[in-house]
Amino acid sequence: MSKVLTIGEILVEIVATDRGNGFREAVPLIGPFPSGAPAIFIDQVGKLGQPCAIISRVGDDDFGWVNTNRLQEDGVDISGIEVVPQGTTGSAFVRYREDGSRAFVFNIRHSACGTITLSEKTLALVDGCSHMHVMGTALYSPSVVESVLTAVERIKANGGTVSFDPNLRAEILDTPGMREALRTVLSKTDLFLPSGEELFLFTTAQTETEAVADLLGRGIKAIVIKRGAAGATYHDAELHLHLPGFEVEEVDPTGAGDCFGATFVTFWLRGASPADALRYANASGARAVTKAGPMEGASTEAELRSLIDSQGIA
Ligand code: ATP
Ligand code: MG
Repeated sequence: MSKVLTIGEILVEIVATDRGNGFREAVPLIGPFPSGAPAIFIDQVGKLGQPCAIISRVGDDDFGWVNTNRLQEDGVDISGIEVVPQGTTGSAFVRYREDGSRAFVFNIRHSACGTITLSEKTLALVDGCSHMHVMGTALYSPSVVESVLTAVERIKANGGTVSFDPNLRAEILDTPGMREALRTVLSKTDLFLPSGEELFLFTTAQTETEAVADLLGRGIKAIVIKRGAAGATYHDAELHLHLPGFEVEEVDPTGAGDCFGATFVTFWLRGASPADALRYANASGARAVTKAGPMEGASTEAELRSLIDSQGIA
């Protein structure tokens, strides 16, 4: 079975329990929840029983423990998570605005995971993996960019595959070197997983059909566009397929895209049909939004099947 690798931020998330505009006043908070887009992604891969690992760093503190404990419980190889003795685990404070958009305060670049570099030990872990998933959010510091690009190169050189979710947050787009790094990753991507407008990040095309044709023409094998409650669309050279979302009550949308991507990638690597992979991924994204906390809504395969069966989709 393919072993899936990701590299990037491990964070705790602390969430305001009321809605409003950011953090310029004292607000009630709940957390810490295990978080970080790459961590949520790899936790969902682990929960599906697929071999997987993450390379990251945490501090020697409770926030780090919250994450490593959860990831290990859910089946993730945590041998690539280094504990930085004087470091502090990263964090993100999140508050929803009345319109549903999110305000963030991040502590990532200057946290333990801002110092990720590859060692002999983690390079050996890279070489034991056959699929690399890149999260755009993970390209937040030059040393992490270098680690991600090295892993992409080595895994591709060994005949492996790469998936890429740009997962852009306005707060991190101005990181030096980020845009160039995104382009380099795209040029090595087999499976591209943008959400909505992210499809147009790397093309001058004006319509979705043209953007998809342009990207497929550059060697990307398949594109899956995430559309929130409306579901998702799959494109490859032969097939174009849209499946609507499942009907669920949305409690907390954070993490839906990561769980969706993890589930699509896992089924794709197992050789499932695009329709099956898309159906399970939609179920995974839908279940993710029903739980408060970004990683709390990750699902087992049985839980996904039960949602699919309950809504009568064969
Ligand atoms: P993230 O905030 O995690 O980065 P994203 O923008 O990458 O999210 P979304 O499109 O919001 O991704 O969600 C991913 C998938 O999750 C959707 O394609 C859909 O399958 C599922 N999903 C998300 N929100 C809902 C919802 N309210 N109801 C049903 N399914 C949903
Ligand atoms: Mg996303």
